[in-house]
Amino acid sequence: MKEVYFDNAATTKILPTIADEMYKALLDCYGNPSGIYKLGQQAKKIIDGARTEVALLLNASPEEIVFTGGGSEGDTMVLIGAARAQAKKGRHIITTAVEHHAVLHACEALEKEGFRVTYLPVDEFGMVGAQAVEAAIAEDTILISVMYANNEIGTIMPVKEIGEIARKHGVLFHTDAVQAVGHVPIDVKEENIDLLTLTAHKFHGPKGTGAVYIRKGIRLANLIYGGGQEKGRRAGTENTTGILGLGLASAHARQHMQENSERIRKLRDKLISGIEEKISEVRLNGHREQRLPNNANFSIDYIEGEGLLLLLDMAGIAASSGSACTSGSLDPSHVLLAIGLPHETAHGSLRLTLSEFTTEDDIDYLLEKLPPIVARLRSMSPLYSEKYN
Ligand SMILES: *Cc1c(COP(=O)(O)O)cnc(C)c1O
Repeated sequence: MKEVYFDNAATTKILPTIADEMYKALLDCYGNPSGIYKLGQQAKKIIDGARTEVALLLNASPEEIVFTGGGSEGDTMVLIGAARAQAKKGRHIITTAVEHHAVLHACEALEKEGFRVTYLPVDEFGMVGAQAVEAAIAEDTILISVMYANNEIGTIMPVKEIGEIARKHGVLFHTDAVQAVGHVPIDVKEENIDLLTLTAHKFHGPKGTGAVYIRKGIRLANLIYGGGQEKGRRAGTENTTGILGLGLASAHARQHMQENSERIRKLRDKLISGIEEKISEVRLNGHREQRLPNNANFSIDYIEGEGLLLLLDMAGIAASSGSACTSGSLDPSHVLLAIGLPHETAHGSLRLTLSEFTTEDDIDYLLEKLPPIVARLRSMSPLYSEKYN
């Protein structure tokens, strides 16, 4: 049976060339990068090279890149680290209602430590305005954290404008750019970004390795105690293999982002118009233009997301409804509720996310399989029968 993968916002397939390089390094470059002998220095060289690649992708300096164990660790490290480091200056943090749980739950933990958090609402497209951010700034605001692009609905936030406002008010600005890095061009200098989180597995690198960009001069309180790795900012023997994979994924993204995103955007637009033509009572969630090139998210009326995913899976199609972290629970996605969808509609959402491995064939296959599956589910819906019979 055909297998098509439409869940690239949850994770991507690693590039085979990256996996090959990592395998070789795993076997051969096992030295501790802190060792002064050749084997250690060889590992250190791999890490330095990867640091340069990540920096180039963001227009940062290599010293501003700290490797982490992924996006959740990066978000936690920045939120908790920046808050604790500035607690004497103030105790107010601004974020949005549509952040990833790594940010939201870190904020909740900070509230228990006595910090005050403003969760800004978003408009029907999932967007927060720079003026709303500015209006929320108080005397004691120490950190603004607004995601670069939303992982569920793909909406791209006005990061540059928010950064400008943060800078003007002397408040640190963090962006969770996990969904954006490797997919859209990012320039931390041009966009006034102080702190940024990324993770390798969302752009064809390995899982469990990420990085944070920390603008020169910014100090974060430490979360992990141990040795002096990463200039004392993140202790622990480096994950040389994972870091190599992140560096290679960054280099690949820098070299191929433009051609890939153009091709992916065209496929995605074909997918959107195909679904809008073939299925009635669907609505595209998120912003039509200000969105990631690989994201499509729909609400399909009279459909229950879990059932839809099961039938799609039986047809060999991997997709998601809401975010991966919340499926398995019955709570509808906090993002879909934040853009104003009623509970029933939020339950019937379908997220389809593409990658450079997605083919036109995959799109055609989905457009062939999805409409009859929706029709079948609707035929079992009492609400739908009530309305149309
Ligand atoms: C996936 C994701 C994360 C978490 O990254 P992990 O590497 O899986 O820990 C954080 N933020 C956003 C927006 C994400 O999409």
